[in-house]
Amino acid sequence: MGDMYDLAIKSNAAITPEGSMEAVVLVKDGLIAEILTHEESFDASEFFNAGDHVLMPGVIDPHVHINEPGRTEWEGFNTATRAAISGGVTTLIDMPLNASPVTINSEALALKVAAAKDQLHCDCGFWGGIVPGNEQEIERLAADGVLGFKAFLTHSGIEDFPNVTEADLRKVMPLVAALRLPLLVHCELTTPVINIEAPDPASYQQYLASRPAAWEDNAIDLMIRLCREFRCRVHIVHLCSASALGKIRMAKEEGLPLTVETAQHYLYFNAEDIADGQTQFKCAPPIREKANNDLLWEALEQGLINFAATDHSPAPPALKHLQSGDFTKAWGGVASLQFALPVLWTLARKKEVAVSKVVQWLCEHPAELIGCSNTKGRIARGYHADLVVLNTSSKFTVTEDIIHHKHTITPYLGQELFGSVEQTWLSGTKVFDKPAFTTLNTGKIIRHT
Ligand SMILES: [Zn+2]
Repeated sequence: MGDMYDLAIKSNAAITPEGSMEAVVLVKDGLIAEILTHEESFDASEFFNAGDHVLMPGVIDPHVHINEPGRTEWEGFNTATRAAISGGVTTLIDMPLNASPVTINSEALALKVAAAKDQLHCDCGFWGGIVPGNEQEIERLAADGVLGFKAFLTHSGIEDFPNVTEADLRKVMPLVAALRLPLLVHCELTTPVINIEAPDPASYQQYLASRPAAWEDNAIDLMIRLCREFRCRVHIVHLCSASALGKIRMAKEEGLPLTVETAQHYLYFNAEDIADGQTQFKCAPPIREKANNDLLWEALEQGLINFAATDHSPAPPALKHLQSGDFTKAWGGVASLQFALPVLWTLARKKEVAVSKVVQWLCEHPAELIGCSNTKGRIARGYHADLVVLNTSSKFTVTEDIIHHKHTITPYLGQELFGSVEQTWLSGTKVFDKPAFTTLNTGKIIRHT
């Protein structure tokens, strides 16, 4: 008899940093204590055999809008984190908007932490918000544990969260750099767009033309320049313009502390396929054409784009104006948290990319952004036992009855996806066993320390 472990999970396809292998993962006190071959013996109080299914680290989604408190009718901690664990997401980081108040000072952060109490079903951290004039809040927010900061270069869609200018960033970036935290930036620099002769608010092509790639490219130019000047970690959220990839490559080759994410919907959908009036596809920046999106995928494979994150940003159906199909009035945001893993796996599978790559994109690399690369995102000794069993060959259709988001509206409705999440463990506790939640409220708040 060796050590008595709490849990042993056996799989013929455990995805470790060394690749896919036959392994038995042993868990003790919520951590991965040991990784054995199938031949080695062990003694554990609970045993689970995943067989040929993939055993992988839990997904980390660093870009989620939960909206509670203040807009809980849009999405809340309870529904969002249930959706998360049912989709294999064990850690998510909540954006400083669209809750009310927005997370731009310690008081607002405290309200959010209080709102999350007793309804966290996965681990959750918070980004602090940067708006013009709140630079005196940055150190306090960091002391209270935010994992980094988020700013917009264009209107955020929320009146209480105005965008910053270069002048604001010049005040803020030295402070964020000194804290060694990342500054996440929504990169669109708004300039007037040529008026359209006959405006049709239901036209997707007109919506697309109203937010050109040049807005992203110009904003990224600015952020690279400021990143070089202040040596502040800059993270470009939801990159969608492939024409910015050249300058991103050069900035990375120069050694600037720049990282980039794209979103699953920019890889999965193409503008050519979006019919007029389909406002469930509205987001900013907009979903662009296939030729652009193919280049984003290539950049992800090359490592130029570090990872994909959902930018889960739901709203009540009425705010999506589906009846009128009016893109000018509809809330911009795609609900997708639950499908982060199957969507990316479906794409990877089609392109014959190994699941170990998907694990890098959804687990290892986002862990680096949030400062958890020594504790989360890998099946390795000493890491949190956040684990997911994925049946990579099983396919399912996204129907309203399987969706755990607060609202079922999503552009993925009706899509056939590969990769069903069979089981999810959070710190060694089984929290989801398809289709049921087995343990709730075991999520913890993660803080920068
Ligand atoms: Zn967002």
